[in-house]
Amino acid sequence: MVAKLIDGRAVARKVRGEYKLRVDQLLSQGVRPGLAVILVGDDAASQVYVRNKIRACDEIGIHSQTIRFASDTPQSQLIDTIQALNADPSIHGILVQLPLPKGFEMGRVLETISQDKDVDGFHLYNVGGLITGSTVFPPCTPYGVQKLLESEGIPIEGQNVVVVGASNIVGKPMALMLTAKEATVCICHAKTRDLAQFTILADILVVAAGRPNLILPQMVKTGAVVIDVGINRLPDGRLVGDVDFDGVRLKASYITPVPGGVGPMTVTMLLCNTVQAAERRLLSARAG
Ligand code: NAD
Repeated sequence: MVAKLIDGRAVARKVRGEYKLRVDQLLSQGVRPGLAVILVGDDAASQVYVRNKIRACDEIGIHSQTIRFASDTPQSQLIDTIQALNADPSIHGILVQLPLPKGFEMGRVLETISQDKDVDGFHLYNVGGLITGSTVFPPCTPYGVQKLLESEGIPIEGQNVVVVGASNIVGKPMALMLTAKEATVCICHAKTRDLAQFTILADILVVAAGRPNLILPQMVKTGAVVIDVGINRLPDGRLVGDVDFDGVRLKASYITPVPGGVGPMTVTMLLCNTVQAAERRLLSARAG
């Protein structure tokens, strides 16, 4: 068996096309969706991520604004800026690029963002909503994985899912989202003993650990769907995921490549959340 490649770039292109039409609809009603991105400090990777997000906004007609702060900016100034953006009608989504430099209280900063503009889905309200099913904005990376599964018509209900990685931004929300779709979900992490005894049971294996070659073919059930969220830069400069791609693709039924799998979907889902925020505001303005 050779796995079918899930082409994240192609799915992202299709979803962005659909959302561009929704932006055009909004524009025809006098609303231009707006995203504010806050970047604190000079982390090189964060600069690249922010640039990609801004470019993606431009491509589908979302107005964007980048606000940069030095890493020694007082937290109160950051909070004041977020509060001003909360009140700004031209802004529908607010994103604080993580990680924040040392000294900032991430929770305090994220919880200042209005729930209605929390397009990254990291506000406590949205996180809690993953349990009750009342999330306003699903976090972008797991939301993107869910879209990839849907794009291939891969059933989730009743499937055994193993999520490797238990971070607040990927692993845990992923597990909750797939539980909500009635999968049987197991979460593994760095302290899991004998990872393979869990991964081998997975019909759908989602890996987000940040460890190259963590998942080897003998750890994967024949015919499993393998979603590789990991992004690792090797010493020779190559970008790889967490899965031994060449080995596992001979055993899986579907697999995502790195790059070109989950990555393009993360930014895409940010665009989707921002457009939805603008649509909801328009609806509630009309209702009110
Ligand atoms: P994190 O460091 O916050 O969390 C990693 C998780 O993996 C932890 O729960 C840890 O316990 C677990 N883990 C580490 N080593 C393990 C091991 N040997 N066995 C089992 N579990 C192990 O990382 P994160 O922010 O969740 O990101 C994970 C990976 O996904 C990184 O490579 C990151 O670059 C990538 N990522 C990709 C996207 C994307 O858009 N494709 C988005 C976010 C993160």
